[in-house]
Amino acid sequence: MSHLQPLEAYHAHNYQRLVKRWRKIEKSRNLCMHLLAEAGGYPIYYLESRSPNPHCRWFYCSAGIHGDEAAGPEALIQWAETAKKIFQEVNVLLFPCLNPWGLVHNLRQDSHGNDLNRTYHDESVPQTAEHKRLITGREFDLALFLHEDYDARGVYIYEIPFKSPFIADRFIAASSQHIPPDPRGVIEGARARGGLIQRKVSPRLMPLAPEAFFLHFSLNSRSVTIETPSEFHIDQRVAAQVAILHQAVKYCCSLGSRE
Ligand SMILES: [Zn+2]
Repeated sequence: MSHLQPLEAYHAHNYQRLVKRWRKIEKSRNLCMHLLAEAGGYPIYYLESRSPNPHCRWFYCSAGIHGDEAAGPEALIQWAETAKKIFQEVNVLLFPCLNPWGLVHNLRQDSHGNDLNRTYHDESVPQTAEHKRLITGREFDLALFLHEDYDARGVYIYEIPFKSPFIADRFIAASSQHIPPDPRGVIEGARARGGLIQRKVSPRLMPLAPEAFFLHFSLNSRSVTIETPSEFHIDQRVAAQVAILHQAVKYCCSLGSRE
């Protein structure tokens, strides 16, 4: 099969099917699906609580910004399909797949060769600019970014220090029912312990800004990046991420009422 052949036959890379599944459940989950932008010939959607409860916390989650990391989009929809009550407990803003062209072609970059997760400092990439416009001025109690890594040997998580203590150990505990934490002491050049990379970050040292930096520095939101190991079975990777999504909602609820 040619490298650029769309992979729609594989469920995890079938964008049309993914959109259909969200459409099917949006109403019953009190969600509204909107168009964010179009890129590479595909519409990019987001879903938001239809009538947000002012007392509930806000949970932000995005998936599929790298198209060859298929577990995220699948985990997010499976979580939403199987957990109806959650949407009465938290307000959500969800981006089910930020790079549909990449997902369909199983490629990290978008159709212009951009690594979208290095463009959040940049106004010249239309879909990123649109994404930033939509969320600017908002603040989320927790923002999760669902990723995968071919080099990973287990689940690992980046957590940027934020106000109160770190929280990502609970995500490692939840995902370890399905995939153990990455045992390496150094991951992507950073010191890691039990799959956790918890360190200060600086936009100066990483000028090509990822989405997490924008949420952390510009929106003052707690930002946690999840990485599952791409070489593990897709069902295991999805299950690990679904377990983390459940924990994320539990964390938001544990913060108590917003007012
Ligand atoms: Zn990624």
